[in-house]
Amino acid sequence: MTSEIDQVIAEAKAKEAVWKKEIEEMRKKSFSTICVHGAYTQEESIRNNNSAVIEPVFSSSAQSLKNSYWLEAAMSYKIPAWGYSRIANPTIAYLELVLSMLESYKQPFSASACCTSSGMAAIKAATEPFLVNLKNKDNQKMNFVSMAQVYGGTFQLFNERYAKERGIEVRWIKDPTNFEEWRSNIDENTRFVYGEMPSNPGLQIFDIKKVAELSHNFEIPLIVDSTIATPVLLRPLEHGADIVIHSLTKSITSSGRVIGGAIISKENIKCKFLTVEQKKDFAGWIKLWPARDSGACLSSEAAAHVIDEIKTLRMRMNQLSKAALEIAAFLEKHEKVEKVNYLGLESNSLHSLAKQYMYLVDSNKNRYGHLLSFTVKGGLEETRKVFDKLKIIFKATDLGRIKSIATIPSISTHQQQGEDARKLASIPDNLIRLCVGAENPQDLINDLDNALKN
Ligand SMILES: *Cc1c(COP(=O)(O)O)cnc(C)c1O
Repeated sequence: MTSEIDQVIAEAKAKEAVWKKEIEEMRKKSFSTICVHGAYTQEESIRNNNSAVIEPVFSSSAQSLKNSYWLEAAMSYKIPAWGYSRIANPTIAYLELVLSMLESYKQPFSASACCTSSGMAAIKAATEPFLVNLKNKDNQKMNFVSMAQVYGGTFQLFNERYAKERGIEVRWIKDPTNFEEWRSNIDENTRFVYGEMPSNPGLQIFDIKKVAELSHNFEIPLIVDSTIATPVLLRPLEHGADIVIHSLTKSITSSGRVIGGAIISKENIKCKFLTVEQKKDFAGWIKLWPARDSGACLSSEAAAHVIDEIKTLRMRMNQLSKAALEIAAFLEKHEKVEKVNYLGLESNSLHSLAKQYMYLVDSNKNRYGHLLSFTVKGGLEETRKVFDKLKIIFKATDLGRIKSIATIPSISTHQQQGEDARKLASIPDNLIRLCVGAENPQDLINDLDNALKN
């Protein structure tokens, strides 16, 4: 005779199997359709949500359960449930599922996701499990390899928290397009390899396929932060990466109403430093164990904002990329501009590599995203003058917004790193980072033209 708890498990699993089948059907649809529907099928709407057309915000700290057996099964993770919202919540689950569907779009493998309170929380949660003290107590030799041109917060986490506070060796790759540099820095004590594509603000890229293969030769994972590209323009898992990071704060949620992050992992990631259970569903494991313990969860309200924006992500990234190219072409011709850094410009030394990786999903059109940067002739003082004259373009340390935003990284986002680290990350003093929004591009060009006048 089956016990009461076995019956509960059987009932819950049968219900889950029905939903999983619907999700598998949805996974076969086109990218735009998945953006709009995700795992929130009509059946799911009727079954669990009073037929609400749009994903409801489950603004509740916890879920009540039928009886002690359901309570026990839920809290011991024997059944899918949302007992407590730090660990699981339906609105957040809808977001995690659509993100994992988009990052594994048209691939034979599946992916899973764990949302976090911020992009930095995602980066910390995704990297920390590789840096634990293993039984062999060999952590003195432990190292990890990362390209140097990462987001300022990531640089600080790796350099200050991991390297200086914990004594873990971080090996910076200065030229990520130089494959030899990756090869000579990775060894048997390397725990993971980390890249950003494209990087913020330097717009550095690297050959994901080659670096993934190299990492896998050492049985370690490649982690890629593709916040700036979004799954519309780049899906690193399909090129061999094991784990993808998003700051949901940025390009995915253009309204700017949310701070959030996500870790998306491929099933069965490569890693000799993890257990079979950890490798099988890395993001799911993070969600149930370390993220539960550190507590940096997303709120259901924030998750709903992100879900709303994912529905229009493809058309937005397409339009913003076209506008950015137009603006980059204008800046390139301007006499006050020293150099424009935009992956879509043919003059860019990384253009041909970018062309291989960055294109509008479900089309053969190359698109290079909304982020560009340029240096102003005359150093920091002249750069400040140009920046201060911007009227339409907001002056802030933000990006990915539906409105255009500019910043001077050397005195803002990358100020704390100091001059040497800025040099390492190739951030000159006179660099303006511009993230193009959905205003009419001509109004933005006029704003820039006016600011660049003496
Ligand atoms: C902003 C940013 C992060 C950090 O995200 P938060 O949500 O601000 O914590 C990580 N990576 C990249 C590329 C970013 O631009």
